[in-house]
Amino acid sequence: MKYIGAHVSAAGGVENAPANAHAIGATAFALFTKNQRQWVAPPLTAKSIELFKKRCAEFGYTPSTILPHDSYLINLGNPDTEALQKSREAFIDEMKRCEQLGLDRLNFHPGSHLGKVSEEQCLELIAESINIALKESSGVIAVIENTSGQGSNLGFKFEHLKQIIDRVTDKSRVGVCIDTCHAYTAGYDLRTEEAFANTFNNFDRIVGFKYLKGMHLNDTKKGLGSRVDRHESIGAGELGIDTFRMIMTDPRFDEIPLILETPDESRWKEEIKLLKSF
Ligand SMILES: [Zn+2]
Ligand SMILES: [Zn+2]
Repeated sequence: MKYIGAHVSAAGGVENAPANAHAIGATAFALFTKNQRQWVAPPLTAKSIELFKKRCAEFGYTPSTILPHDSYLINLGNPDTEALQKSREAFIDEMKRCEQLGLDRLNFHPGSHLGKVSEEQCLELIAESINIALKESSGVIAVIENTSGQGSNLGFKFEHLKQIIDRVTDKSRVGVCIDTCHAYTAGYDLRTEEAFANTFNNFDRIVGFKYLKGMHLNDTKKGLGSRVDRHESIGAGELGIDTFRMIMTDPRFDEIPLILETPDESRWKEEIKLLKSF
C-alpha cells in the first residue's frame, strides 16, 4: 500500500494538520510540530494533543503515515560547542513533542560542518547528537534526510547516512528519508529505468531499504549534481514524471509516508491524484 501526502500547514495548532491533509486527498502527511523558524515554542497543550490524535483517527492517519519535520535552525553537527548544545536541546524537545503526539518518527537534515571541522568529525558529532536524543526520549525514530549538499551540509552521499547509522547505538530507532530532489542534485540520477535501478541498488547496498522510513517526492529546478536545492512541482522539473511513476509502482516504497514538498500548494491535490493513478 502506498501512502501519499504533502507537508501541510499546522498554523493555529498541530490539530489542524490532519484536516488540511484530508482536504487534499492525502493518505499521509508531514508537519512542523512547532514554528520552524523559532528556537523555543510553547509546549503542546493537552487539548491540542487530544484533538490531533482524535482527528488522525477520524481521517485514518496512523503514525507510520505521518512524517514530522524538525526546525531548520537545528544543526546537530555544529562544531561550536554552545551552538551544538542549543541544537541538541531543541532536537530533544522536538522528539518529545512527537512522543506526546503518539508519533513514531522525526525527519531532520543531518547537519553542517560550517567549514570548521572535517566531514568525518561533523558526522561523528551528528551521531553523538542522535545517541543523546534517543536516550532522552522514547519510541521515536530519528529519520535522517539526504541533502543536496548545498554549502557545508552533509548527508549528500549515501555513505554519509551509513556512517551516521553505524555510530548510532540503538539501530531500531534510526532511519532515513530520501528526498528525490536532493538525491538528484547531489548527483544520483533517477530519470531512466537504468539510472533509477542503479541509484536504489546503491542505496540498498550502502544504507539498506530496511532503514527507509519515508520519502520526499519533489521535482527539481536544478541539474544533476548541481548541489543546489530548489524544489519544483511533479513533472515540471528536470526529473519529469517517469521518476515518480517508477517510485509509485515499486513495492520497496510501500508502507511509508511519501511526502510532497513541491512549491505550488494549489497543485498538491492534483499531484496526489496523479501519483495515485500510477
Ligand atoms: Zn525534503
Ligand atoms: Zn530540499
